[in-house]
Amino acid sequence: MIPVVALVGRPNVGKSTLFNRLTRTRDALVADFPGLTRDRKYGKAELEEHEFIVIDTGGIDGTEEGVETKMAEQSLAAIEEADVVLFLVDGRAGLTAADEGIAKHLRSREKPTFLVVNKIDGIDADSACAEFWQLGVDAMYQIAAAQNRGVTALMERALAPFAETLKESEEGEEGELVDLSSVEDIEKANLSEADAEAAYKRLQEQPIKLAIIGRPNVGKSTLTNRILGEERVVVYDMPGTTRDSIYIPMERDGQEYVLIDTAGIRRRKNMHQAVEKFSVIQTLKAVEDANVVLLVIDARENISDQDLSLLGFALNAGRSLVIAVNKWDGLDNEVKERVKSELDRRLGFVDFARIHFISALHGTGVGHLYESVQEAYQSATKRISTSMLTRIMQMAQDDHQPPMVRGRRVKLKYAHAGGYNPPIIVIHGNLVNELPGSYKRYLMNYYRKSLEMMGTPIRIQFQSSD
Ligand code: GDP
Ligand code: GDP
Repeated sequence: MIPVVALVGRPNVGKSTLFNRLTRTRDALVADFPGLTRDRKYGKAELEEHEFIVIDTGGIDGTEEGVETKMAEQSLAAIEEADVVLFLVDGRAGLTAADEGIAKHLRSREKPTFLVVNKIDGIDADSACAEFWQLGVDAMYQIAAAQNRGVTALMERALAPFAETLKESEEGEEGELVDLSSVEDIEKANLSEADAEAAYKRLQEQPIKLAIIGRPNVGKSTLTNRILGEERVVVYDMPGTTRDSIYIPMERDGQEYVLIDTAGIRRRKNMHQAVEKFSVIQTLKAVEDANVVLLVIDARENISDQDLSLLGFALNAGRSLVIAVNKWDGLDNEVKERVKSELDRRLGFVDFARIHFISALHGTGVGHLYESVQEAYQSATKRISTSMLTRIMQMAQDDHQPPMVRGRRVKLKYAHAGGYNPPIIVIHGNLVNELPGSYKRYLMNYYRKSLEMMGTPIRIQFQSSD
C-alpha cells in the first residue's frame, strides 16, 4: 500500500516549496470539498524507487493559543491518516511558540515524525538548529527545500521502513514465476515469449481491483450496496480495518473482483447510520491500489472541480477508468440532454472512458458497468508485441506523414512496449521529440483505434535516435 506523508508546520516555513519539490507538478490535486475547512494539496511523488502520496496540510496556524482547537479539523485528520509526518520549522526565523504548540500536539499522536529544519542555505546551520532540540525530538534533518538540498536524504530515511516491506514481499516471490503479480514483474523477468504469454493470461484471470470513488453524496454507498445486494453477486466475507478502505472480494459471472469501498458501507451497521466523513486520502490510496477506477458523478449537480480533481488523480496514476453518471432516474429529457452536452464539453478529454447513465437507487444500468470494467482491465493488461506496435506505427505514418521540422522530415522507425497498466508505447525515430502535439495525438488515437483499447489511458514515449 502506498505510504502517505503529511507536511505539517506553521505558515511560511516552506511546506509548499517542499511539496512542489517532491511532486514536481503544477497540477497537484487541490481539495476543496464540502466539509474540509481549508484547501489542502495532495500530490503523488516519485523519488528514486519510492512512490508516495504527499499532503500539504496547510491549515495549521499555531500562533493562536491552544493548537488543538486551532488546528483545522481536517489537518488533524490528515495527520491521523498519514504514515509519516514531516514537521517543518524555519531555520532562519528560529523557534517560535507556534512550533512548540505543534510539537506538543504531534507528541501526543505517536506517529513517526521527522523534524525538518528548512532554509539552512547561507546560514550556520548547526548553530541555527541547536535551539530546535528543545522540541524534544530524536532526530533532526536540515534541508533547503528551495535548493533541493538534503531533500533526498530526508526522504530516504522517512520512507526506509516502507521500502523494506516492498523488498521483503518481492523476495518472497522469488522463484515462483507462475505467480508474477504484475505486468512489470513479467516484463522484468525476461521470460520466453510463450511463458510471458501464459503469465499475462494468468494475470488477466486475477481478481479485478475496482475502486468506487466520487465526492460526497454522489451515491457511492448506494451503488456499493446495490452491487453487493444483487442476486448474481457472490460476496465473500473479509474482516476490515478501521482506518483504510474496506476490500470486499466478490464474484460475478465467473469473474472475480475486489471491491474497494471508499464509502465505508461495510463499517456501518445499517444504511441509515451516519455516513463516515469523506476522506480524500482514503480515496487517493484506493485509486493507487486499484486496477480500474469507477468514478461516480451526480447527474443532478453540475460537474464540479472536485469531480475533475478526482478524475485528474486517476489519470495521473494511469488507472483504467469507467464513469458512472448516477441518479439518472426521474430526470426529464431536457435535463438529460443538458447533462450529456455538459459531459461532452467538460469530459471530452477522457474520450477513452465509457460513460454509463445509471440509477444506483433503482438498479437501472448497474449490470452493464461490469462489461466496461472488464473491457478496461483487459485493455490495460493486454500484451502487444513489438512487431504489432511497429506495424501500426508504420500504417499511421503511411496514412499521414509526420511534418517537417527545420527542413527535415521526422521519421518514425520502430515501436515497442515500455510497460503496461497503463500501456506505454515507446516510439524510436529521427527528431521524434520535436513532433508537434497534434501529430502525437494522431498517433495516440491511431493506436487506440487499431488496438481497440477502451477504458485505459495509453502513454506514448518518444526516443530520438539522432
Ligand atoms: P508554507 O507557507 O509553509 O507553504 O511556505 P512556502 O513554501 O510558501 O515558503 C515561504 C517562503 O519561504 C517563500 O518565500 C519561500 O521562497 C521561502 N523558502 C522556502 N524554502 C526555502 C529555503 O530552502 N531557503 C530559503 N532561503 N527560503 C525558502
Ligand atoms: P455517497 O456519499 O457517495 O456514498 O452517497 P450515498 O450513497 O449516501 O447517496 C447520497 C444520497 O443520494 C442519498 O440520499 C441517496 O438515497 C441518494 N441517491 C443515491 N443514488 C441515487 C439514485 O440513483 N437516484 C436518486 N434519485 N437518488 C440517489
